[in-house]
Amino acid sequence: SVTPAYTGRFAPSPTGALHFGSLLAALASYLDARSHQGRWLVRIEDLDPPREDPRAASQILHILEAYQLHWDGEVRYQSQRQPAYQQALEQLIEQQRAFPCACSRKQLAGRLHLGRCVVPAAQQQQQDFAWRFASGRGRCCFDDALQGHYCEQLEQHIGDFVVKRRDGPWSYQLAVVVDDADQQISHVVRGIDLIDSTIRQHCLQQALGYQQPHYAHIPVALEANGQKLSKQNLAQPLLPDDSGNTLWLALDWLQQAPPATLKNAGNQAVIDWAIDHWQLTALQGLRQQPAPAGRQRA
Ligand code: GLU
Repeated sequence: SVTPAYTGRFAPSPTGALHFGSLLAALASYLDARSHQGRWLVRIEDLDPPREDPRAASQILHILEAYQLHWDGEVRYQSQRQPAYQQALEQLIEQQRAFPCACSRKQLAGRLHLGRCVVPAAQQQQQDFAWRFASGRGRCCFDDALQGHYCEQLEQHIGDFVVKRRDGPWSYQLAVVVDDADQQISHVVRGIDLIDSTIRQHCLQQALGYQQPHYAHIPVALEANGQKLSKQNLAQPLLPDDSGNTLWLALDWLQQAPPATLKNAGNQAVIDWAIDHWQLTALQGLRQQPAPAGRQRA
């Protein structure tokens, strides 16, 4: 089959219900995909059960549907993808880009890990350890559609990061690059809070020989107190109905200048308008900004 020119995705971790901040990432990635006649996939990043809420995945999907953000194909669950991550790890081990590491947090004492505490092969049966990626030296850079040319110094800011945790789970960094490659994601649109992760992902993509998607990191919404709107901050979950004009407010936040007449037009009309008028570049130069007040019913 022919690979479509544009495949985007929304990849929530099911740690809680969808809130305004995560809706912005979902909506921006959806609109960017649909305005390019692209595909849009949803992937549930359920790698770490103790941090998850068993109801969250279905709640998130329900809200996406209620807001008319319909995905293509089946939803992918990362919990079903263990063998693919294992295969990627084995490739890294073979290339000597991954090594077993038994450093405790205390031993690292906040320092970046650079090839320390390597567990010799003979001890790999007895000792528990994490797998780390040997990130290398020098600068790693990528071009972001909104943030421009973005670089990090590997030894100073990245270090040898974990790809499989000591207690078992795969790291987000490894799983996300394996699935973005496997699902042939061409464009990633997500919050700027993940931009440092993108550098790590870029390193992994290079090591694994994957093509790098195009990236656009959008600003994140803030609470009135200046903190990032997040599940950790107990941001309010979105409601499935559109009585709060949530999509309109999200479009407005995304600098799309939706007409006031669209405010009570219903979710489908708002989405249709937004696909026709989407301008990613309207977000250029925008800093993080507060979420609109009164975006949800009390
Ligand atoms: N699962 C990650 C999160 O919910 C985001 C993944 C991504 O967009 O790459 O924060």
